[in-house]
Amino acid sequence: TYVITQPCVDVLDKSCIDECPVDCIYEGERMLYIHPDECIDCGACEPVCPVEAIYYEDDVPEEWAEYTTFNTEFFEVT
Ligand code: SF4
Repeated sequence: TYVITQPCVDVLDKSCIDECPVDCIYEGERMLYIHPDECIDCGACEPVCPVEAIYYEDDVPEEWAEYTTFNTEFFEVT
């Protein structure tokens, strides 16, 4: 799955939402999140992000590793 990381916070550009063929990118209060079970790893969202916030799960920079959890947890609430 792809993961949205720190640069998205308070940016929410949403270019990625238009690119995602399966509509698995959701809007949170301060950033966008990718649903880990719905993402088909197509990679279409990654190059269109103007702040380079999107990474394949294995390529998430270490300092933002916790965002992998944040993306998953966003969909576990309620
Ligand atoms: Fe959507 Fe593809 Fe990005 Fe996954 S990799 S969030 S399916 S655009």
